[in-house]
Amino acid sequence: MRTLILAAVASLVLCAPAQAQRLAGVRPDVASDEGGLWAVSDKTEGSARQSAELDRDPALNAYVRDVACKVARDHCADIRVYVMDRPFFNATMAPNGYTEVWSGTLLRAADEAQLAFVLGHEVSHFDRNHSLLSWRRKKSTSNAMMVLSAGVAVVGVAAASSATTYDGASSILDATRSLIDVVYLTGMASLFAYGRENESEADRLGLDRAAHAGYAPSAGTELWRAQMGETQASDFKRVRTSGTRTNIFASHPLDAERIAALQENLKSLPNTGETGRARHRAAIRPHLATWLRDDLRRRDFGQTLHLIGRLAADGEDLGVLNFYRGEAHRQRRGEGDLTSARDAYLAAAAYPDAPVAVWRELGDLRRKASDAAGAKAAYETYLAKASTAEDAWIVQDSLNSLTSGK
Ligand SMILES: [Zn+2]
Repeated sequence: MRTLILAAVASLVLCAPAQAQRLAGVRPDVASDEGGLWAVSDKTEGSARQSAELDRDPALNAYVRDVACKVARDHCADIRVYVMDRPFFNATMAPNGYTEVWSGTLLRAADEAQLAFVLGHEVSHFDRNHSLLSWRRKKSTSNAMMVLSAGVAVVGVAAASSATTYDGASSILDATRSLIDVVYLTGMASLFAYGRENESEADRLGLDRAAHAGYAPSAGTELWRAQMGETQASDFKRVRTSGTRTNIFASHPLDAERIAALQENLKSLPNTGETGRARHRAAIRPHLATWLRDDLRRRDFGQTLHLIGRLAADGEDLGVLNFYRGEAHRQRRGEGDLTSARDAYLAAAAYPDAPVAVWRELGDLRRKASDAAGAKAAYETYLAKASTAEDAWIVQDSLNSLTSGK
């Protein structure tokens, strides 16, 4: 019965192919331009499913899926959420309902309400069929000869050329290239570059979805302000001056105007005050160490330190957070960084969740500072706590050289 109804609806909307506002989630005719977009989406989704970066933690997936369904409402059955372990603030929605949420986003959403806002934003792109609108606009304005192909690689070429148009975006793309599969990523990029109006509309509708699902509507402005703060904390001037983007391929930056529009909207929305902060932290806690280590691979230590500062504000997970604060300083090696690294490792060591590596790093720093007794104590603590660690023999060797006075 459901199939019959869907078939009838599909044929109705296909009678009006120029109209983008057809029922989201209903598979279009394969011969239409929208059918082509779905074919690309299907291929990209297949790559996501095979990806080594797909996070398969059942509890985390259930949590994200649950929040997505709360904001998606009737579209819950139409969307499929994939959590990807990638250290960037990014979430995407393909026209066929395939959604990606990257670990960098889960790490940066301070609570469940902020995640709900992001997912609400993506569901709104889906509900309003923005990818089709955007595709048609691009086709009519930028390249009349470009014909939609169902090949990810072909779309990838278009995406790579448009990515260099935006100030700053190409360098972020370059940074990403070394981390993840570029063909797959550029295929996605072409599907998710929306214009200013589409982004503003998705902000407004996403916030509306989150608020009506019972979340505090201040989440939208809080999240965007935090992202602007992180941009300003970058170690790189070109990042600080290029504007904040809500995802690595966003066609326009986050600005005060966009935040003001959200601020204006929230006055008319229900406000339960519910943030779900504790639930969110519990869901991401098992992944904090891995995701922070990944974040350091971006080598923008100013941004990582800003992120850690936000995560530490709750006074939780201070062993892990201070350890990675120490790692950021140690790897940056700027003026005063080694002292800051030592202080952060010392702070971490006071908490039961401190990774055991804290004592190895403390030992190394003290040894470099010619504090033999301090280094010895730290190495001994490390070996007592991690006698079976792969690098235990290296630490033992360092300890031996200290004891023998070499
Ligand atoms: Zn968007």
